[in-house]
Amino acid sequence: MEVADRVLVRRYAELDLSVGLVMGDGGCLVVDTRGDERQGAELAAEVRRITRDPWTVVITHSHFDHSFGTRPFLECAVWAQEGCRTDLIEGGAGTKDTWARRYREEGRPGIADDIEKTDIVLPDHLVTDRAELAVGGRRVVMAHFGRGHSSNDLVVHVPDAGVVFAGDLVENGAPPAYGDAYPLEWPTAVDGLLGLTGDGDVIVPGHGDPVDRAFVIAQHAEIAALAGLCEEVAAGWMHVQDAVRLSPYPEDTTRTALRRSAEP
Ligand SMILES: [Zn+2]
Repeated sequence: MEVADRVLVRRYAELDLSVGLVMGDGGCLVVDTRGDERQGAELAAEVRRITRDPWTVVITHSHFDHSFGTRPFLECAVWAQEGCRTDLIEGGAGTKDTWARRYREEGRPGIADDIEKTDIVLPDHLVTDRAELAVGGRRVVMAHFGRGHSSNDLVVHVPDAGVVFAGDLVENGAPPAYGDAYPLEWPTAVDGLLGLTGDGDVIVPGHGDPVDRAFVIAQHAEIAALAGLCEEVAAGWMHVQDAVRLSPYPEDTTRTALRRSAEP
């Protein structure tokens, strides 16, 4: 669907993933490439049905469902935060094993095979804090506001359209995922994202339907509340059970956040 002028979002049933396409004059930008090479090829074919323009790829963070489908897009520039490259080098093979096993246990050997066969592409254009692109003459800003959902969340802002691709810093339809998160730092990253937006802007989460600024402000309050609980438990001022009871999120999400915030 077109969420703003020549900014498209495609939602997939698998993991309810949302990917993006920003079109300029004579160039386009693909935001995330899906979870394996076969899925990436399917996405590339869909983009090709919409535009023949050369593409650039940007990866919002290193998690496999956003980054493993890049191979079919080559040769092209692949942008990401610098921690994304590190994470894919250090953790990519392990992630393939983990998710292939998980899909096999779920009775889905096809997708498990696809993940195992995937050749992970390392991003070759790295962002530290901020970088700008001209996508067919259209300005796109990529920004990293510190660690949050992952070590390498990169927000993609299309100022002329009032659209921000949030990666998994914002989640719609499920609680935010804390498995690789930095719970105490996450609110600051969302603050940075909110600083890019105004009323009427569209924020595209990594999973689920696009949302408005009010949704992100509400989610920010929730992750800040959970960060506060994590701090109180870490300081010994609160029992885990009380944090679970007071948390805005389900018990498993809260326990994952508590564990992550206690890790060095
Ligand atoms: Zn993620």
